[in-house]
Amino acid sequence: MGPERAPGKGVAGLHSDSPLNVLPGLGARRSEMLARLNLHRLQDLYFHLPLRYLDKTRLLQIRELRHGKEGLVCGVLARHEILIRRRRMLELVLQDDSGPLNLRFFHFAHLSKLRAGQRVLCYGTLRWGNQGPEMIHPELRILPPKGPPPLETTLTPVYPTTEGISQYALRGYLGNALRLLRQGTVQLPELLPRELLEQQGFPPLYSAILQVHTPPPGLLSEDPGARRAHPVIQRIVFEELLAHNLALQRIKRQAKQSRATALPNSEAAGTARDELLAQLPFKLTNSQRKVSAEIQQNLARPAPMMRLLQGDVGSGKTVVAAIAVSQAIAAGRQAAVMAPTGVLARQLHQHLQECLAHRLELRIELLSSALTRKQRADLLARIAAGESDVVVGTHSLLQEGIHFPRLALVVIDEQHKFGVQQRFSLLGGKDDTVPHQLLMSATPIPRTLAVCLYADLDVSTLDELPTHRRPVETHVMPNGRRAAITKRVREICLEGNQAFWICGAIEESEATPRRRSAEQAYAELRKLPGLNVGLLHGRMKNQEKENVMERFKQREIDLLVATTVVEVGVDVPNATLMLIEDAENLGLSQLHQLRGRVGRGRKAGTCVLLYAPPLTSIARQRLDAIAHEHNGFKIAEQDLLQRGPGELHGSRQTGMPRTRVVDFATDRHLLPQVAKSAKILLAEHPEQAPQLIARWLPDETIYTNA
Ligand code: ADP
Ligand code: MG
Repeated sequence: MGPERAPGKGVAGLHSDSPLNVLPGLGARRSEMLARLNLHRLQDLYFHLPLRYLDKTRLLQIRELRHGKEGLVCGVLARHEILIRRRRMLELVLQDDSGPLNLRFFHFAHLSKLRAGQRVLCYGTLRWGNQGPEMIHPELRILPPKGPPPLETTLTPVYPTTEGISQYALRGYLGNALRLLRQGTVQLPELLPRELLEQQGFPPLYSAILQVHTPPPGLLSEDPGARRAHPVIQRIVFEELLAHNLALQRIKRQAKQSRATALPNSEAAGTARDELLAQLPFKLTNSQRKVSAEIQQNLARPAPMMRLLQGDVGSGKTVVAAIAVSQAIAAGRQAAVMAPTGVLARQLHQHLQECLAHRLELRIELLSSALTRKQRADLLARIAAGESDVVVGTHSLLQEGIHFPRLALVVIDEQHKFGVQQRFSLLGGKDDTVPHQLLMSATPIPRTLAVCLYADLDVSTLDELPTHRRPVETHVMPNGRRAAITKRVREICLEGNQAFWICGAIEESEATPRRRSAEQAYAELRKLPGLNVGLLHGRMKNQEKENVMERFKQREIDLLVATTVVEVGVDVPNATLMLIEDAENLGLSQLHQLRGRVGRGRKAGTCVLLYAPPLTSIARQRLDAIAHEHNGFKIAEQDLLQRGPGELHGSRQTGMPRTRVVDFATDRHLLPQVAKSAKILLAEHPEQAPQLIARWLPDETIYTNA
């Protein structure tokens, strides 16, 4: 029962697309926090699946509780005592007919009303301590002395949540949202045809949603795998996969119907390419040559190219992009090149300039946030007048309605950092043609998935590293060795090398007190004598980030403390050493990306993975695997297999499309059936497809008319 409903927030006119702040007690600040969980609309809340459930429907005897298991008991407080040991704590003894249970609290301000002799309901996890069975920080509720204890009728969901939003608050929002659904104030239309539901044995959406959030006891298994396989969950997962498949097919269909400007492989194009290659300080690898030839042929056709170029970190994707760009320019056309961040856009711009440095007449421009208003206006005018040949920028390039009169090629670097929606969208031109698209990614999608997810999209792979590049030697060490390592890092920097020091978080956080933050590491490391230490994290302004990166490149900074914002693409050839704190908390692909930042020059790279002991055996295995495996594809495959469903929100790092309920590790067995169902749906109920896409991929159309 949150605060009063704000004036003007009537219930009338609500629908599943309404923003979350239509719910009581949900203001702008909370809505922003929920947005971090990818919760924006009411329906997002309905599709926010519980991680697990608590069973408060059944009362146990204290003696029936099992070590490590949760349970609900009811009894009388036989003892109430505040002890001062190493720290203050509250100790209670709860007694029922079957025996005593010790309860311990280190924070107990909220329990000031408790007294010995009271009857309480208690829910918590049992463990066997020195003094018999005990619970630490159980949930307590004072009951009247007599009468049956109030039991829940359904299981209590536990949701993935975020800092600032308690489990209790989130349950409250869901409770309110579900009430609207039950009352019929909000409708969640059934979009799957009845035949499909019957054939798959799926319940209708309405009942699946209610059952998944408020399951009656016994409906869902306690085992996460078996629970996932239950039709009420499979039904929701299936629908999301279907929506992705339909979105993909729609884009492919549009692509087939569209025309692109043919960029002929003319004599001029050939000369431009030869000149470009001649002034490179290296020879292309066979792999680069093969992929360039594929792209060259695609571009020469009047149908839009949609090609994904996958290649491990350091496999040399940029030069392949430069060759494609030169073909567009040779045909008198413009190319737009996009990177996910300003830092990367600046670097890509430099890299392309180097590749095309011999063509003095070319205008290769950077649309950066560092431009003054005047510079920016001038640049936009040049682009619109068709004077710019290549424009590099972040995705704002296409968002801001910039007009490219001669645009024929769009290159998207590190495409996995952009949403799935954007990566597959068809970019519409102003005339009746669309540009060719080259998407580049360093986190490959495992082959088994690529077949289903990319379907007929053309995929090229750089499966060979330039010869001089050696794998980054990787060591796994407990964080107790930090002092010794710090000393070594300093020596290595004083020898003229540069190093990265990576932390998972920006600042201290209550939620993860064990993890070292970048600010903490920076405060300590900057004291090292003789070193220039810099700090880079995602909360800094773009301009600041670019400055720090530039100073690191110019070797004004020896040691760069950073969060994982440096993960993609940053190229500093003189950096040879990378240290990663709390490595056990990062995904394997992410670690692989990170370490790909060092050893990019002539000298080999070294990476140290620090972990906080003790490690679980799975974490140990993962770290050992990354230390010994240097093939990005194999790592991506392992990453996928080892990620649990709880880590869904890390999926963006892995090159997988961003999904709401789908976990490709556990759900990929559905893909073949989804593909079949999509075909049938398009043939028999085509009107459902746009609605399904809109429900699950609301941003899918953002770029289609750019
Ligand atoms: P990524 O695929 O990770 O984007 P880059 O395109 O940034 O890799 O290339 C990494 C480095 O390797 C660059 O410094 C680039 O100049 C160099 N490089 C690219 N191709 C070759 C090659 N065939 N031989 C030697 N060095 C190369
Ligand atoms: Mg790159």
